[in-house]
Amino acid sequence: MTRWHEKERPHSAKGEKMVELKQNVQYVKGVGPAKAELLHKLGIDTLEDLITYFPRTYEDRSKPKYISDLVDGQEALIEVIATSNMSEVRIGKNRSILKLIVRDETGACTITWFNQKYLKGKFKIGEKYKFYGKANVKYGKVEMINPVFDIEDNSKNTGKIIPIYPLTYSLSQNGIRNAIENGLKIVSGKLDETMPEYLLKEYHLEGLNEAIKQIHFPDNFQEYKKARDRLVFEELLSMQLALSGLKNKYDNENNGITYSKDVKMSDVINALPFHLTKAQLNVLEEIDKDMESNKTMNRLLQGDVGSGKTIVSIIATYKAVKCGYQVAIMAPTAILAEQHMQEFTKVLELFGIKCELLLGGTRTKKRKEILENLENGTIDVLIGTHALLVEDVVFKNLGFVVTDEQHRFGVRQRGNIVAKGNNPDVLVMTATPIPRTLALILYGDLDISIIDELPPNRKKIETYAVTKGMEERVNNFIKKNIDEGRQAYIVCPLVEENEEINAKAVVELTEKYKNEVFKEYRVEYLYGKMKQKEKDEIMHNFKDGKIDILISTTVIEVGVNVPNASLMIIENAEHFGLAQLHQLRGRVGRGEYQSYCILKYEGKSKEVKQRMKIMQENTDGFIIAQKDLELRGSGEFFGTKQHGLPEFKIANLFEDMEILKCVQSVALKIEKTDPKLEREENVCLKKLIDEKFTKRVEI
Ligand code: ADP
Ligand code: MG
Repeated sequence: MTRWHEKERPHSAKGEKMVELKQNVQYVKGVGPAKAELLHKLGIDTLEDLITYFPRTYEDRSKPKYISDLVDGQEALIEVIATSNMSEVRIGKNRSILKLIVRDETGACTITWFNQKYLKGKFKIGEKYKFYGKANVKYGKVEMINPVFDIEDNSKNTGKIIPIYPLTYSLSQNGIRNAIENGLKIVSGKLDETMPEYLLKEYHLEGLNEAIKQIHFPDNFQEYKKARDRLVFEELLSMQLALSGLKNKYDNENNGITYSKDVKMSDVINALPFHLTKAQLNVLEEIDKDMESNKTMNRLLQGDVGSGKTIVSIIATYKAVKCGYQVAIMAPTAILAEQHMQEFTKVLELFGIKCELLLGGTRTKKRKEILENLENGTIDVLIGTHALLVEDVVFKNLGFVVTDEQHRFGVRQRGNIVAKGNNPDVLVMTATPIPRTLALILYGDLDISIIDELPPNRKKIETYAVTKGMEERVNNFIKKNIDEGRQAYIVCPLVEENEEINAKAVVELTEKYKNEVFKEYRVEYLYGKMKQKEKDEIMHNFKDGKIDILISTTVIEVGVNVPNASLMIIENAEHFGLAQLHQLRGRVGRGEYQSYCILKYEGKSKEVKQRMKIMQENTDGFIIAQKDLELRGSGEFFGTKQHGLPEFKIANLFEDMEILKCVQSVALKIEKTDPKLEREENVCLKKLIDEKFTKRVEI
């Protein structure tokens, strides 16, 4: 995360050479080949890797407690005098227990070691020792088992804040701690500062040398915080600048398509059977501006489920086609692609625009025909799934790309479809609303448009969280609604990332419902790995009202539109993230009927109840996303990996939201005044970013 260069340092005291940060960790004192091998498994190969391998947490072994104040189960430091010799109890051949009685002015404590014979004779009556370990306090008796210790004033293991590192392989905490301590000795005071002087001053950031030292071995928790804040600041700032650099790169490439001002989006807007919301119109204006400029558009369109993103993309598509270009629409699932096909055709047909659908399951003959017509330009709009990415899918003149529900695709696939055109404009749509600050760092390479308003007259979806005891009432409620002509979804949780197990759960639940509770109704199931043809058939039958209850995995999560379905039942709702529950809930309430979402949950934990409450009380996806983030932290929110961004070494997007906001304002300023980081004062930032993102975010 930090960068140092290996030039001569003019200021260095003895004119010594800069530290070689890329040196093999093996040559750090006390490491050697065997330990280097273990470190390698943790991703530590160089000295630089070693000193930027940050602690997971810390143990405060700095403040001693009185024996009388020890709490059962809690770790603590005691400063004591030995009042007995060690006694040994043998239990079996090679096993023994050593015991030592110690005391301070408030009481006595037994120190017990299992199988640590080498300690025999180590402690003497009347001598002073410090012990750190977990206290057992039972019936007034105090005991500490296998504690770490120091003799008298020594403080190798105690008397300070001790870093605890994330470890998985057979390397001990002591092992890595020693290696890092020795590594720090080599670099001590010699690291080149990576943050500009003016930022260090303005934001009271600690210098790099001190920060690296304190993050590993903090003098106290204030020092730790200062060190961490600085390192988080650096990590977030370099990421944000790298992303905006990427964006600028596109902005400066003035060889994007310039769409004609003569083709008016209003032609479509005025032909719609409804009025667009103000938010939709604003977003369209932003898109139109991008399209008419010679820059390449790279825009993220965010909006809650049902906020009307699709129609926005249809209108933009109209403009692109009427200006003489082809358009590609990529959806994450076949069902969704088909639905887009319907919606696009419905509107664009009126304007003589030809849309086609290409899926993995499209028949060879049909596929051949589509590919031909795509290449000769007969097809204006190609809608589909990953099937669009295949090599022999060749456009005549691809000028506009829409990818829907982006987080399923990831950055790379977006890149692949974009490469089929010549600098096409790109619109990325996502229905996972995320707070703006977060969007800026996850999609920092894109401009962001937000639809923050739902079309009028949407009925609020009533949401209830219920436990097992309510099952019968829920079932009766479902029956009542179906009897009134409505339809219901029942969603089984994703048991794990194993489609077969999930499919089994769906089939089993269906059998149960079909043969018992909902005998009189038409119940069908749907899961991801079913044959495309079967899935299509089921979905169509559901749309046509030939199925009353559709039981499925989360395959219906995205975008499916069945206005007559008014019930969304979610089994084991506690297994889902809030953002996902919100997505699922968005499948109902799409028609004129009052709709309901019933969250069946198990478990009494406070967290589960809190999550259910949030769902009952909130309908705004952005607010739900924010709360989800607060409850679960950013790591779980949705794997950042899926966005193709590197994981953070020290920053936590939720905990560090304040720093993130600050960093974003700094990045914005720099973007305005020195976008290429050419000014003298920003040169160190440029170096930092170049090194860190050499293999950077692809698009
Ligand atoms: P999203 O993709 O954002 O989840 P959709 O684009 O699927 O939402 O829109 C949901 C439904 O609302 C569609 O049937 C669409 O035709 C309709 N719709 C979109 N915009 C409006 C509007 N301004 N007024 C009324 N209905 C709208
Ligand atoms: Mg949609």
